[in-house]
Amino acid sequence: MGKHEPINIKKEIFNSGKFHPGKISLQYTVCNKPNCACKDKLTPKKHGPYYQLSYSLKGKSRTRFVKPEDVEKVTEYINEYHRLKSLISDLSEAYVNHFKDYGWDYDPEQV
Ligand SMILES: [Zn+2]
Repeated sequence: MGKHEPINIKKEIFNSGKFHPGKISLQYTVCNKPNCACKDKLTPKKHGPYYQLSYSLKGKSRTRFVKPEDVEKVTEYINEYHRLKSLISDLSEAYVNHFKDYGWDYDPEQV
């Protein structure tokens, strides 16, 4: 029963933490105030940085801003999302290999 057994990968997926898809990027913006430093023609000093979370859900791209104090937490959720995706990929590979080696009636829960 190695770590490449489907049952072990499933356990790890079951025990995974909170997650969120997407990535965080820094955004600088220009405001509506006339004569603001952000509109200076030679050395514009834009507002920011703001943390923007972009992600895709059910085929739709979305964004939302993240407060600076939440960036570390959200980054952990994003990392967990990537870990889960990688576990799903490992699980697919494990099933493909096991069915190939042991036949279609192979039951990974009964090993
Ligand atoms: Zn401005």
